[in-house]
Amino acid sequence: MAKRDYYEILGVERGADEKDIKKAYRRLAMKYHPDRNSDDPEAEDKFKEATEAYEVLADEEKREAYDRFGHAGVDPQMGGGGGGFSGGGFGDVFGDMFGDIFSGGGSGRGGRGGAQRGSDLRYQLDLDLEDAVKGSSVKIKVPTLEECHHCNGSGSEDGKVETCGTCNGMGQVRMQQGFFAIQQTCPTCHGAGKSIRNPCKKCHGEGRVQNTKTLEVKIPAGVDTGDRIRLSGEGEAGRMGGPTGDLYVQVNVRPHPIFERDGANLYCEVPVSFVDATLGGELEVPTLQGRVKLKIPAETQTGKLFRLRGKGVKPVRGGAQGDLLCRVVLETPVNLSEAQKDILRQFHEDTRADKHSPKKSSWFDGVKKFFEDMKP
Ligand SMILES: [Zn+2]
Ligand SMILES: [Zn+2]
Repeated sequence: MAKRDYYEILGVERGADEKDIKKAYRRLAMKYHPDRNSDDPEAEDKFKEATEAYEVLADEEKREAYDRFGHAGVDPQMGGGGGGFSGGGFGDVFGDMFGDIFSGGGSGRGGRGGAQRGSDLRYQLDLDLEDAVKGSSVKIKVPTLEECHHCNGSGSEDGKVETCGTCNGMGQVRMQQGFFAIQQTCPTCHGAGKSIRNPCKKCHGEGRVQNTKTLEVKIPAGVDTGDRIRLSGEGEAGRMGGPTGDLYVQVNVRPHPIFERDGANLYCEVPVSFVDATLGGELEVPTLQGRVKLKIPAETQTGKLFRLRGKGVKPVRGGAQGDLLCRVVLETPVNLSEAQKDILRQFHEDTRADKHSPKKSSWFDGVKKFFEDMKP
């Protein structure tokens, strides 16, 4: 396998100085570090290649041999340079390069301080439609980890917290494996960076204890299923005095026996007798603000929607108040006496489909046409 030129790999001039070589390697190593490219097998090869090139070019002696004899001058398999690539320059470039990338920030660990942010919590809150629309205040009980009062969250019985000796408070240790320096969570302090000689008897050094807390949640008017209310700092307490997580209250509106909500609008069905629907009349319909009168005209058909403006919901994110839409459902009379049925029969004799039932007659016309069209 032909090896690429070391200068070419790092992308530097032959005469590049130590600083430029280090800079070039840092750039490549950051780009191809296996920790950042776990899904790209080629990155590991590129990383190895760059590391090997840097190992040679950063070492005055090896670089001289390479400049003179090429790969043969430094390749350990060729018997030239000896000792492989675990030389001195390697460790410190990693030390200052990856120290701040892999141990700090990103992973959520507090790196230096050792304290750890508490988890965010989610709480599903079932609400009645009325409360969701008008807003309310609800008491909820949340099982969570709270700061231990016995040790004030420090985790230490006597208040003494020392820096972990294994990782010097970094929470991470570096393992050297051939070309690779791998950052790992410190096995002694499990990433906390601190050690406690005398752990708190109540929380066993965690700095927090299991507890159920009661919270009063203000529900803003207009919330709907799927909305989230964030209660900052009401999540789990942090480990060893770390910051507290947040609590997310997830709103779920229970089905309502009368109203159905769609965005800002509410829907309901209003049963109407066929006599009222025929002659027209005034109905009493429910709204979330109380009963209101709804006039329906004569000859109202089933399924007809009547809009009551402004009787819907004012959305939580702003916008106009929605409407209430009442759907008329004609109700067939039940439990009729013989005398009542006779009146209906007589009524039926008196009425003819084509004159009094517009939908029925147009339906029959449609059916007739359908069968005629089917004829060959
Ligand atoms: Zn440690
Ligand atoms: Zn404690």
